[in-house]
Amino acid sequence: MHALAVFPERRKVAVIEEDEPRTLGARQVLLRTREVGVCGTDREVAAFAYGEPPAGSDHLILGHEAIAEVGELGSEVSHFQRGQLAVPMVRRPCADPRCRPCRAGRQDFCATEEFLERGIKGADGFLAELFVEGEENLIPVPPGLADVGVLIEPLTVIAKGMVKVRAFRERLPWEPMFEKALVLGAGAVGLLSAMCAVSNSYDTTVYSREPSDGERAAYVRGFGASYVSSVETPLADVSGKLGPFDLLVEAAGFSPLTIAGLGVLGPNGIAVLKGVPGLGPERAIDIDRLLRSVVLKNQVVFGTVNAGRSDYFDAMHLLEALVVRFPESVRHFITRRYPLEAAPELLSRSEGIKDVVRFDGAKAGGQAS
Ligand code: BGC
Repeated sequence: MHALAVFPERRKVAVIEEDEPRTLGARQVLLRTREVGVCGTDREVAAFAYGEPPAGSDHLILGHEAIAEVGELGSEVSHFQRGQLAVPMVRRPCADPRCRPCRAGRQDFCATEEFLERGIKGADGFLAELFVEGEENLIPVPPGLADVGVLIEPLTVIAKGMVKVRAFRERLPWEPMFEKALVLGAGAVGLLSAMCAVSNSYDTTVYSREPSDGERAAYVRGFGASYVSSVETPLADVSGKLGPFDLLVEAAGFSPLTIAGLGVLGPNGIAVLKGVPGLGPERAIDIDRLLRSVVLKNQVVFGTVNAGRSDYFDAMHLLEALVVRFPESVRHFITRRYPLEAAPELLSRSEGIKDVVRFDGAKAGGQAS
């Protein structure tokens, strides 16, 4: 079978020929990959800046945002049937008996950092024609979501953040109304976060570097949020006009912007940090001003990564709601579908909002249908 692999030592990214999986454990499922989304993490792994191959291997098969079709079943698989669609979870627990999150099945909170992530850290991913997965790591997907189900994994990160935002809002002894959200970054996670904020009745502004008369800005306005370009308007001015913000969603992974964003977070505001900043030279920041504001304004600042099983179900429901509320925006989210052969090129540049690799070849090209 064909797969897309990264060889970190040889600094090579290539479509390779791999043996088809032969053995199936009792609770394992063989899956035929349908679609795999490409994200910033994949691009970092393909640029050899992140990720690692499985122990003893010289290469890592990429891909963690997948939707696949169930094929053969292990003898004890009880929750899946042939032909069903499924989305695989990304992270696998560490082996440390003292790691309470992993032992509780919440490896997204792993305390040892010894977890594996398929397609990212120590375990092969889903950019392959076939893969094997334990049924406990699969989420069943209804056929109605076949065309957009590849967006479930990126939505899990947002769903996990939303659970916490709701919990932190509970600390306020009144029901907040007419709240304002600021989303930093107009990549896939930023745009999906903004759509979710609009659908949760936040008056939402997306702030990113693309121009205000560009396609991204038009896309943002298309689902009812405002767009402001960081190249044209300083963040402080945005706050004056459209803030103060009750919710800050950081999805750019650029720390000077995150710090500026925290500077415009309003009283009792909540900041969700989702972007992973690259490590570079030390930067100077006025930490006293920042922390003073967090304390004096009763703010909550938290980070979130990966997702647990319940977040996958929440993400699926979020997706169903977004498809109903913003059918055109969701349809245009997946900009193009490419065959596997195009993947190495796709990883070296970012064209659309969400580039997707499609496996059967039937529908490569065009927009989401
Ligand atoms: C994935 C997460 C993963 C994170 C860090 C993201 O792109 O969606 O599942 O935990 O990268 O590796």
